[in-house]
Amino acid sequence: MVFTPDTVEALGAAVALANSAEPPDTLTGLDDLLSLFDGWGYTGSRPDAAELAAVRSVRPRLRALLTAERDAAVVLINEILSEQSAVPQLVRHDHLDWHIHAVSDDRPMHERILVETAMAMVDVVRADEMGRLQVCAAQDCDGIVLDLSRNRSRRFCSTTCGNREAQAAFRARRSGPA
Ligand SMILES: [Zn+2]
Ligand SMILES: [Zn+2]
Repeated sequence: MVFTPDTVEALGAAVALANSAEPPDTLTGLDDLLSLFDGWGYTGSRPDAAELAAVRSVRPRLRALLTAERDAAVVLINEILSEQSAVPQLVRHDHLDWHIHAVSDDRPMHERILVETAMAMVDVVRADEMGRLQVCAAQDCDGIVLDLSRNRSRRFCSTTCGNREAQAAFRARRSGPA
């Protein structure tokens, strides 16, 4: 296990959210936000339409953090944790064993996302595992890839990108010199 389950979950959610900003934008309505919220098991109250713009607006910041070099990531993490007055607390709820929440559930969703991502990145930095976060290897795709595989073999942000590249490689082989 590279990271604890709550860190894995927070990284996955942050990557999905950051990648939703890649064209075509897939976080444009409240429905998109709610399926993200439900799909990633966020706690606290379900977001309303008013939170959509705020959540959308933190995506560039998440992307910058998730793709930063290690020392640069530290600056961004510390900035978020102090700006949001994060106080790490061990909590146990639903089916989840002890894990960390650093802001209370009644804070706006985008603030919880920022803090959760920063806390997850604390683990990534401390474990010196920045290489687990890469930009997609597909041409014309800037999606972020979270690679938690044992042999660090994941290169594409989605199966769509993987298939597209496999097809391109196949075509290149066929049309190349015999
Ligand atoms: Zn929790
Ligand atoms: Zn991709």
